[in-house]
Amino acid sequence: MNDLIKRFEEVKSTIPDNVELVAVSKTKPLEMIKDLYDYGHLHFGENKVQELTDKQEILPKEIKWHMIGHVQGNKIKYMAPFVHLVHGIDKLKRLSELNKEAKKNNRVIDCLLQIHIAEEQTKFGFTKEEVWRLKEEGLDKNFDNVRIRGLMGMATNTSKQSVVRKEFRGLKDFRDEYIKSFAPKAFDILSMGMSGDYRIAIEEGSNMVRVGSSIFGNRNY
Ligand SMILES: *Cc1c(COP(=O)(O)O)cnc(C)c1O
Repeated sequence: MNDLIKRFEEVKSTIPDNVELVAVSKTKPLEMIKDLYDYGHLHFGENKVQELTDKQEILPKEIKWHMIGHVQGNKIKYMAPFVHLVHGIDKLKRLSELNKEAKKNNRVIDCLLQIHIAEEQTKFGFTKEEVWRLKEEGLDKNFDNVRIRGLMGMATNTSKQSVVRKEFRGLKDFRDEYIKSFAPKAFDILSMGMSGDYRIAIEEGSNMVRVGSSIFGNRNY
């Protein structure tokens, strides 16, 4: 067993069966992705559309590609033909752009609303208040070609576990309230947790984790 598979198995062994593991392969070479694919893993995440499409073109078509990064409107068309799940929808405009490109491709594309839960100003996302307002205005009624499958959030990058836990718990509570109020269809994904905090995220109700460096090793940008 090579080191990659060993690390993958180590991570996998800490994740319950009901939690989807997205292996975040950004900046990592095709060979590593292919190795994990050959080992039987199908879900991979990238944060740049260019890199995502370059890799998708070459690698096996069975791979389920997650776009986990900030989405730029003018890039949506490149991933629309194949993307499996878009995690980072953070504006109503993006949702409508994604809907348009999905329609052109005759697809219904699954996506998540990214919610701002961290202390940092730099993280993208809707505020919870925005989501309430949009939902009351009929958020997803106008979009036949996108399906909002749930929420995504990133906790503050801090060693204070209590802060991280509180932010994840807040997002889970928000999700529960949202479901209670609106009973949306198939709103079943809660994407939270990365290498440094996915264990806490799972304890707080995450059912999709995005793990990069713990599987692929540190990234050199
Ligand atoms: C890079 C990235 C990850 C994975 O980060 P690691 O710390 O390497 O596990 C998860 N989510 C998003 C949105 C990312 O950009």
